[in-house]
Amino acid sequence: MTSERPTIIVIEDESQLRRVLRAMLEANGFRCVETESAGQGLLDAETYRPDLLLVDLGLPDRDGIEVIRGVRKWSAVPIIVLSARSQESDKIAALDAGADDYVTKPFTVGELLARIRAALRHAAIHGRPESRDTFANGELRVDLLRRQVFVKEQEIHLTPIEYRLLSVLIRNAGKVVTYRHLLRDVWGPGKVDQYHHVRTYIADLRRKLEGDPARPVYLLTEVGVGYRLVAG
Ligand code: CA
Repeated sequence: MTSERPTIIVIEDESQLRRVLRAMLEANGFRCVETESAGQGLLDAETYRPDLLLVDLGLPDRDGIEVIRGVRKWSAVPIIVLSARSQESDKIAALDAGADDYVTKPFTVGELLARIRAALRHAAIHGRPESRDTFANGELRVDLLRRQVFVKEQEIHLTPIEYRLLSVLIRNAGKVVTYRHLLRDVWGPGKVDQYHHVRTYIADLRRKLEGDPARPVYLLTEVGVGYRLVAG
């Protein structure tokens, strides 16, 4: 049986929360496959080839991070982490393992649906080759072929590192990108603990790109985790 509705696999061991998620997803036009363990979740991911995965980090058999690593070996499907843990380190480990985003329990239905839609939109845009030539959101426009950046159609000069940082965020637009990920992709693997580099250059980018650098609308801070460029 085929379905036009996007399929979402929910890997969560709390049965009550699974029921709530199923009701919420089905009411919003998604097909929901539920599973309560990491092992079964990995099998279901291969069987159903879902459009998105919601993964709890605290699972009975294995850590949810292992599900993320396992799926990432063969698929770029969007993965959103459901985490009861408030520690930043767990979220960061999940993002570094390949998750696209996370919500911390307890979350609201509206919040989770917004994250799901953003992740699906990002996946759809990423699959269209022509859209990779330009990034645009509001008054910000980046021509990725010519490496030119415009705000209100005025060209903005960026240093090579500023441009590289912006292009990594564009490649991951809409997603949370960790400090470690930015350091690795912009400065190289030897600098992954130099968080201050990222903060300094983000501040420079905000001064050049944001109308009010103190109240950014494009380059958002994910406190303790990293940054998110708002997708156009
Ligand atoms: Ca759990």
